[in-house]
Amino acid sequence: MLEIRDYEFWFVAGSQHLYGEEALKCVAADTEEIVTALNASGKLPYRIVFKGVMTTPDEITQLMKDVNYNDNVAGVITWMHTFSPAKNWIRGTKLLQKPLLHLATQYLNEIPYADIDFDYMNLHQSAHGDREYGYINSRLGINNKIVYGHWKDEEVIEEIASWEDVAVAANESFNIKVARFGDTMRDVACTEGDKVEAQIQLGWTVDYYPEGDLVEFVDAVTDAEIDEEYKKLEAMYELRAGQNTQEHFEKNVRYQLREYIAIKRFLEKGGYNAFCTNFQALHGLEQLPGLATQMLMRDGYGFAAEGDWKIAALTRLMKILAHNEGTCFMEDYTLDLRKGHEAILGAHMLEVDPTIACDKPRVEVHPLGIGGKEDPARLVFTGSDGDAIDVSMADFRSGFRFISYPVDCRRPEAETPKLPVAKVLWTPKCGLKKGSAEWIKAGGEHHTVLSYKVTEEQIRDLAVMLGVEIVEIL
Ligand code: MN
Repeated sequence: MLEIRDYEFWFVAGSQHLYGEEALKCVAADTEEIVTALNASGKLPYRIVFKGVMTTPDEITQLMKDVNYNDNVAGVITWMHTFSPAKNWIRGTKLLQKPLLHLATQYLNEIPYADIDFDYMNLHQSAHGDREYGYINSRLGINNKIVYGHWKDEEVIEEIASWEDVAVAANESFNIKVARFGDTMRDVACTEGDKVEAQIQLGWTVDYYPEGDLVEFVDAVTDAEIDEEYKKLEAMYELRAGQNTQEHFEKNVRYQLREYIAIKRFLEKGGYNAFCTNFQALHGLEQLPGLATQMLMRDGYGFAAEGDWKIAALTRLMKILAHNEGTCFMEDYTLDLRKGHEAILGAHMLEVDPTIACDKPRVEVHPLGIGGKEDPARLVFTGSDGDAIDVSMADFRSGFRFISYPVDCRRPEAETPKLPVAKVLWTPKCGLKKGSAEWIKAGGEHHTVLSYKVTEEQIRDLAVMLGVEIVEIL
């Protein structure tokens, strides 16, 4: 389900006519060499296509128009090889509706002291061409990224790769559709928000459905379909009946598979790629979707609990950025405030995404203290050790705000035999005391997206690209 378009980026070099056709041919050859090398590096998640050397406002404007209407083009990368008068770029850049990366590089990575002459200088003017171009982008208030350094440098290539993922996520933001089964739970404030503004600014469609609409789909699932999913489940995870009779265990696991198939079908039919549930309202459902939700997150769907559509959409957005690796819906569950142990135990009642598991997830069936429904099957596992970031999103009348901090993740200090949920322990890199106090001050909620793949810089770039305020707690 993570499937997205086969995106590409267009690369254009800026130059001018002053130095003749021969110089322009050389610019074109140099640029092609750079594009070929970047594609051949094997580091870029999306292909770059060389679209030529541009020297006039008309061709630049036409290029940007073409970028806008070609849905498979996720953004533009520009390089000012020679001195390209930035007035040429004003009209086109103003029309551009997609992410822009200015690669501030130079063909040679050194100053050729022995050979340098005025012919060389006429051709290689990136040092001042970049300044000229940057002036106009700054003046226009364009939220472009600047990557600076030699094009063969590993760090430069990695920065381009990182930006490509952010740019694709920004494009895909406008394809996010969230199905909300039930409204916001328990009249909570932080999970509310302005859905119209989210659609205007971020492209998110958020639709409401009563649970009854889903029940029809649940009832329509056949036993044969469940049999097939049960086999796949056995191949992928460890099925542990534990205290349950085999019959009770299988019955409850099979009901979650029924919900999985039904929700997936419902989402596919409506073109949704994210959803929310609400355990306060489960009319006609026998269990809160636990294992079902975990399997859908594994498949790449965005999710958040309790009607929290902002975090459901953010989960989807960050899964795209992370290619669905190590990125999940999370909640600040409970705290360790002892000196030397300071940490947040992250978990949720059921719905933790197995893409962060360090061990083989077990399918288990246990009673749930709330909701008043049957014992739901769920995947139980432990999250991985490592560096991650934790991100949330708040809605104020002044606009949306991302709140984010880097965290150290590790396994919980001990097992929790009476709390059979998937979990992970983390501490903000700036410390629990500072991190949490600033998080709370910034209005960051308890639901978050935890990612071992997405970097703090990518979240910052994404916020800039989408025009969302960001509070980084570093
Ligand atoms: Mn929750």
